[in-house]
Amino acid sequence: MPFGGEWKYQISNSIRKTDELGKYISITPEKDEDISAVESEFSWCITPYYANLMERNDSQCPIIKQAVPDITELHDPLGVMDPLDEEKHSPAPNIVKVYPDRIAWCVSNSCAVLCRHCLRKRMVGRESFDFSKEARKSALDYIARTPEIRDVLLTGGDPLIYDDGMIEEILARLRAIKHVEIIRIGSRTPCTMPQRITEGLCSMLKKYHPLWLNTQFNHPKELTREATEACNRLADAGIPLGNQSVLLRGINDDPKIMKELVRGLVKMRVRPYYIYQCQTLSGTAHFRTPIETGIEIIRKLRGFTTGFAVPTYVLDTPYGKVPMSPNYIVDRDKDAVYLRNFEGKIWREPNPMDENSPDAYI
Ligand SMILES: *Cc1c(COP(=O)(O)O)cnc(C)c1O
Repeated sequence: MPFGGEWKYQISNSIRKTDELGKYISITPEKDEDISAVESEFSWCITPYYANLMERNDSQCPIIKQAVPDITELHDPLGVMDPLDEEKHSPAPNIVKVYPDRIAWCVSNSCAVLCRHCLRKRMVGRESFDFSKEARKSALDYIARTPEIRDVLLTGGDPLIYDDGMIEEILARLRAIKHVEIIRIGSRTPCTMPQRITEGLCSMLKKYHPLWLNTQFNHPKELTREATEACNRLADAGIPLGNQSVLLRGINDDPKIMKELVRGLVKMRVRPYYIYQCQTLSGTAHFRTPIETGIEIIRKLRGFTTGFAVPTYVLDTPYGKVPMSPNYIVDRDKDAVYLRNFEGKIWREPNPMDENSPDAYI
């Protein structure tokens, strides 16, 4: 084991070539050609840990589909590189501001695994990303002089790809800004490289509370013993954990799979937070589902499982995230509303009329 422990091993042995990948799954000569065609457009790398979860001979394996380049990535006429127009919403280097009181700060351009559905493909794995001392200082200066920012989300790439020292420097500088009330980290490492969540990292992080962390599990297969232990260490450090899944065709676009996923997550003390509609992002046409699929998944979760295990289904847009949910209000009839419960039963509830606008109805 190299200096730095098990997670450094995962990074230095990251799989980036088809002959290495061939030790985990079968790579036909056609597949080999496909991967070299795709990789010049969209780069890839996979931790040995995540590759170990792959089913060798199952091309439908949800782990393979999320991590191994597929030729269909090159057939996406609608996809664009920056569907959220994030570059236009950037008041300082690598900062995205869409909301009045909070920002996303992309502090890294690399990840343990480069997901095929990654929203930030335009920067992740690319050289042009600038996170020099000057760029960092100018982002921090912007936050310091913008008092309405009370919530800073550190994202990327993956902030936890750095050593503890670098992460601590960012956290300490943010904590020195009085109006920053909460700090959040978005990291997929609990799923793709759980070895990163060391005791040392957790005892450093807990000095910077209130600190929250959102991760990304998309399929029950990812809820392994190692991932559970990583989440335990974070939760034991007092860090509230959330999960942001992406709705992916052929991976989790099925109410049964989603129910298993959210139930497994709450067992790990991870609260399902969002399910994202897959964006019209370059190279993801094969993953996109109709929005109705997502709404139907929520309808089959709400009431059928623990209330706090039901995430909010959202579409992210350049104007912010828009929640999409089944409609439970069926009708308004004078001073009553008719509501539909989770099983389809109708309930009539008296509901006062608004005296100022008696014609208004839901
Ligand atoms: C998602 C996002 C946030 C955080 O949104 P919440 O709904 O508060 O979790 C903040 N800023 C940007 C630019 C985002 O995309």
